Amino acid sequence: MPENRVVVYQGPGNVSVESTDYPKLELPTDVVNGLGLKKAAQHAVVLKVATSNICGSDQHMVRGRTTAPVGQTLGHEITGEIVEAGSDVLFHQVGDLCSVPFNIACGRCRMCNEGKTGVCLNVNPARPGAAYGYVDMGGWIGGQAEYVMVPFADFNLLKFPDRDQALEKILDLTMLSDIFPTGYHGAYTAGVTTGSTVYVAGAGPVGLAAAHASQLLGASAVIVGDMVKERLEQAHSFGCETIDLTTVGELPEKIEAILGEPEVDAAVDAVGFEARGHGAAADEQPATVLNDIMTVTRAGASLGIPGLYVTGDPGGVDENAKIGQLGVRIGLGWAKSHRFTTGQCPVKKYNRLLMNMILSDKAQIAKAVNATRIPLDQAPEGYQEFDHGAARKYVIDPHGMVPA
Ligand code: NAD
Ligand code: ZN
Ligand code: ZN
Repeated sequence: MPENRVVVYQGPGNVSVESTDYPKLELPTDVVNGLGLKKAAQHAVVLKVATSNICGSDQHMVRGRTTAPVGQTLGHEITGEIVEAGSDVLFHQVGDLCSVPFNIACGRCRMCNEGKTGVCLNVNPARPGAAYGYVDMGGWIGGQAEYVMVPFADFNLLKFPDRDQALEKILDLTMLSDIFPTGYHGAYTAGVTTGSTVYVAGAGPVGLAAAHASQLLGASAVIVGDMVKERLEQAHSFGCETIDLTTVGELPEKIEAILGEPEVDAAVDAVGFEARGHGAAADEQPATVLNDIMTVTRAGASLGIPGLYVTGDPGGVDENAKIGQLGVRIGLGWAKSHRFTTGQCPVKKYNRLLMNMILSDKAQIAKAVNATRIPLDQAPEGYQEFDHGAARKYVIDPHGMVPA
């Protein structure tokens, strides 16, 4: 049996690559005990991981901003080749190269039947919804690894139609496991359509994906705001307008300088609870982006909020923030009749169609987020550079399957 290695959280600011067990076709103990499910999982597969990306969501854990324990395995953005399939897997074969939605979903519950795979009821005893390698998400082993187990494989896997073509475009296709659908979901639920003007808060990979998705949806102008110059340059490189939030001036004025009016048709929060206030030396102010997008979006509009908010944050700025209770000016959103979409992106709703956009060369997501391949052993450096604001999306390539 092959060895396995996986990226593990070792305490704030610290991850390492550790040897671990080769995956078994079994559900995690938490799920078995908590939900009374059978341990044996013949509906599962083992994947040889082709790529697994580092995400801003991982950074919340690695910065010590969640209740993730030391020893937490990491990696929810997984693409891989099936090397073992349980006897109940009917529609996938060993050798298939597949994208894995980061949401683990059973495909059988009420939520899955409604397409709400981010809140599946059968994969996490603590709350609806689960993910690989994530705190409070069911105890599933992370996929920043050589091998990983994927349950309910017929439901969860998206097979690429042609293996050679897929490997050629793997740096684009790897974004289907999370950020491309998530960015698209942000823009789509913000109501972006032909001609829309859009403000995207955050120029990390999710913000850049939301910006590119807005372009695909036909936006007439996409404005990206952040404090990191290199990331704003990255947004500019594919046709976005940018706003540097460290400079003097209010956000509506800065939008007016670009559009001739201080409001946009749609806005996306691609930042989440670690948001900083505006200005060169601003501290963390977790409700900043929620208040910004209500301020700068016209009445009657929708707000896409893929940025993550937590129910427990040991590093929260005050007692309220420590339980996810923030100073959100809901009266403003109410007065403007805003609609909010929060939560995990239900990746399956979008991944197949976005795959078609990649395979037909209509979407350039790897270029938009500056996909950067690294071997598994360099994961700790990748985490560090990403944390320092590198304008890159790090793609771990544990077996050297990504073509040079
Ligand atoms: P990231 O940390 O790389 O990017 C966040 C960016 O926001 C940084 O560049 C930071 O400088 C910037 N920022 C901070 N305060 C700001 C402000 N007030 N206004 C504008 N920009 C500000 O993270 P990412 O990988 O791009 O992910 C973004 C968010 O999306 C994270 O919270 C992540 O957890 C979340 N996420 C959610 C889902 C989902 O399904 N809903 C999926 C993936 C990621
Ligand atoms: Zn992610
Ligand atoms: Zn389900």
